Amino acid sequence: MSEIIKTEAIVLRKINFGDSSRIALFYSKDFGKISGIIKGARSSKSKIGSMVDTINLLQLVLYKKDAREVQLISEVDLIKHFSHIKDDYQKLKYATAIIELLTTMTSENEHNIKLFDGTVRILTLLDSSDENPQLLFVKYFFFFLKEIGYEFQIEHCNVCGKKIQLGDQASYNYETGLICAECRADRLTNFNFTEELFELLICLNSKRNNIKYSEKDLDLIMIMLEKFLMYQLHEFKGLKAFNLN
Ligand SMILES: [Zn+2]
Repeated sequence: MSEIIKTEAIVLRKINFGDSSRIALFYSKDFGKISGIIKGARSSKSKIGSMVDTINLLQLVLYKKDAREVQLISEVDLIKHFSHIKDDYQKLKYATAIIELLTTMTSENEHNIKLFDGTVRILTLLDSSDENPQLLFVKYFFFFLKEIGYEFQIEHCNVCGKKIQLGDQASYNYETGLICAECRADRLTNFNFTEELFELLICLNSKRNNIKYSEKDLDLIMIMLEKFLMYQLHEFKGLKAFNLN
């Protein structure tokens, strides 16, 4: 039995298939990551071929069969194509990293509406606002980690559980995460936070706008998050989007 389903989806990847079809990997609102085939997508009469392009937000109608690995897509409508992202190298780099996180770190058929909505929101901001693309990405990275179950927590020492507040000495160890001054004494640390860096970490995890930051601190936090994920998940080898420079 197959059901006819309508869902919104972000295109993660596309490949040509046969003479005229296209297969794509999507992150969908209702089913998480799914693959689908669009027959005839590349024929000259079809507008669908250009819609099914990486990063685009689409509305899909599909015949969903749980036993099938690749779903049959019968209708495609374009909701957003994020043209400013595609015109701007910096924006594109961070959007590509977002697509990469969804592709490599989420499971097929595991939906998470909050993650889907948060991703659409960040892509929309990347596309239409003047905010620093790296700042937007780092905020998204914290949100993403939390949504996939690897929250990078910054309130308590990860060893003794003591609350760490702004102004306290805080350090970081890739294995344990954030640690307090006392626990720092008997273990190796990768680095100690300056007050500015720790404040930035807190701001990035709040809903605050107008965040003050230096590029250097933002770079440092991004590296820390990437390494944090590598430690949590050994199959994660870092984001390729950043190694293309
Ligand atoms: Zn401690």
